[in-house]
Amino acid sequence: MPQKFNRRSVVKSLGIAATGITGTAALSGTVSAFAEGEQVEATTNLNTRKRPGTESSVVATVSPGEVGEIVNGPTNEDGYTWWGIHWLNRDVWGWSVERYLTSSGGSAGTDIVWPMNGVISSDYGWRTINGQDEFHGGVDIDNNNIGVGTPIYAARAGTAYTAYDSGGYGNYVYIDHGNGYETEYGHLNSFAVSDGQQVSRGDKIGGMGNSGNSTGPHLHFGIEQNNDPKPIPSDNYQNVSALGAINKDYSGL
Ligand SMILES: [Zn+2]
Repeated sequence: MPQKFNRRSVVKSLGIAATGITGTAALSGTVSAFAEGEQVEATTNLNTRKRPGTESSVVATVSPGEVGEIVNGPTNEDGYTWWGIHWLNRDVWGWSVERYLTSSGGSAGTDIVWPMNGVISSDYGWRTINGQDEFHGGVDIDNNNIGVGTPIYAARAGTAYTAYDSGGYGNYVYIDHGNGYETEYGHLNSFAVSDGQQVSRGDKIGGMGNSGNSTGPHLHFGIEQNNDPKPIPSDNYQNVSALGAINKDYSGL
């Protein structure tokens, strides 16, 4: 049997100010406010829990303004409406109460998204390395602030494979999206998938590293159609957010 909470203990267990709840509104759910893939932010210090319900253990307390992507929900439990959320910057999945969430205006939709938080250190197209022109069939994403091990996420759902290329991408993951399309993720320091594993967009697939032909820790991210690199719009020094939208419509791929 579920343990009964009085109002005070519910407020305490949610980790929110008592003044944030008035009348009966706190105990009534609303119609579906969000959609899967939509990005939301917390409006207060907000607990996110292993499962829906005030008795489930707290996996993190996120800060006001922190952004997550809706993964599951809604579901009603203990008088609240709950959403399963992937909190992007801390790589945590948990359930939080709808009342303390607001849309951040972003949405990953069904498209290919950026696989990592960082800054573009080498964009797509021709570049000159040691006086030699070479074609760069993807983008390099760096993250000095977090460094080796920064989580790399699947940019789109598909079937993941691991591989090693000593002269090039080092430890890399490629994901087969069907119809000849792949995304690839090079220079990893760790794998978080096994060969043939089905992944959803946003699943962690590995950690950023420096393996293969690499001048420092970074991610090489490529999108290919039948082994032919597809353009990825970006500029050097552009900041990108994990699961944030790429400025190109790949949804028809
Ligand atoms: Zn590269």
